[in-house]
Amino acid sequence: MNSLTSLSAHKLTAHERNLLNFSGGPGALPEPVLVQVQQAIEAVPEVGLSVLGISHRSKWFTDLVLDTEERVKRLLSLKNDYKVLFLQGGATQQFSTISAAFNRNPNWPAEYLDTGYWSAKSIEGAKPLKDGSTQSDPTLKVVWSGKELNYSQLPRNKDLVLSPNASYFHYISNETVEGLQFKELMGLPTVPRICDMSSDFLSAPIQAQEYSLIYAHAQKNLGPAGVTVVVVKDSMLSLMPKEFPAFLDYRVHAKAHSNFNTPPVFAIYVVNLITKWLELEVGGLAQMGQLNKRKADLLYAQIDQSQGFYKSTADISNRSLMNVTFRLNSPEQESAFLEQSKAQGFSGLEGHRSVGGVRASLYNGVTLQATQELTRFMDYFKNTDPRI
Ligand SMILES: *Cc1c(COP(=O)(O)O)cnc(C)c1O
Repeated sequence: MNSLTSLSAHKLTAHERNLLNFSGGPGALPEPVLVQVQQAIEAVPEVGLSVLGISHRSKWFTDLVLDTEERVKRLLSLKNDYKVLFLQGGATQQFSTISAAFNRNPNWPAEYLDTGYWSAKSIEGAKPLKDGSTQSDPTLKVVWSGKELNYSQLPRNKDLVLSPNASYFHYISNETVEGLQFKELMGLPTVPRICDMSSDFLSAPIQAQEYSLIYAHAQKNLGPAGVTVVVVKDSMLSLMPKEFPAFLDYRVHAKAHSNFNTPPVFAIYVVNLITKWLELEVGGLAQMGQLNKRKADLLYAQIDQSQGFYKSTADISNRSLMNVTFRLNSPEQESAFLEQSKAQGFSGLEGHRSVGGVRASLYNGVTLQATQELTRFMDYFKNTDPRI
């Protein structure tokens, strides 16, 4: 790519622009996967049909689901006491399903962390119905909230007071909007741990066997929007009530290998390609994690060495490796930054609509080179901004 001074966006090809996509979600997918997707829309090589027109009951697709289940388990080093499901409805549906399925005893309320925008949504979505139609009215308990700190930091596990009798403990591993990420496992070992990993799933190794249920909508690191990966422990399935609406019942989807009704075939196909890419090209989650850390380190160094020109919004010990959030000195300067970044071919750098500022999302599909380009642009903007 050209040096910045000679670079202007209208000279960039679509391919080059796509490499400079730092969107918070749906996010950039790896180039080699996009090339395969392009081909599969015309015809999947093994089948000779467009991926958009292959039956979900075909052997090719049912085998693909089994293969993807195995790949996810392999990447996470999980054994056979877990099921991998490919569901619809996004993370938002999981907020409600989890609570309806597992938060049922008023004596053992589920415990939640309120650490940012998505936690607040997860809590809202988990609130039980209050229409008197159920005899019991279990509530949930928010055990820690970062709201008064303006969601700038996360709690340490040792500072939480948790109940050993909670139905489950729920948190969000990476707060996508605020740019906060847990660096330690949260919760008690004896209470089922449930985690929304929508924005950092498969971005680095995790202690997957310590979780009873993990869920992630695909559009950040795994594929297109439309499929939500749920990894659930068998022992958790046995805690579900006997009667439960079939479509919401994890056991029904597990038994059908995510083919209970018409699943999002295309989205699952892309998740399969991503897991293959992670295993065969990247070399596994340890390598992916190292690369993601290098990318984030580059940006944070650029921020920290800017003498206050760029200001990180997240507490230093909780900084996210996936979403780097920062501010400039005024809203005008932020608009100028975003405008000029667009003119240089970058996209997706606006902070979430609820907080403003700037956010660079460094999902698996974002390359080291693109991140280097961004640091160069940040340097260039700092040195040429007339307002300082
Ligand atoms: C993006 C994101 C979501 C999105 O939920 P959808 O229902 O898929 O729109 C949920 N949780 C987290 C942590 C996210 O980053």
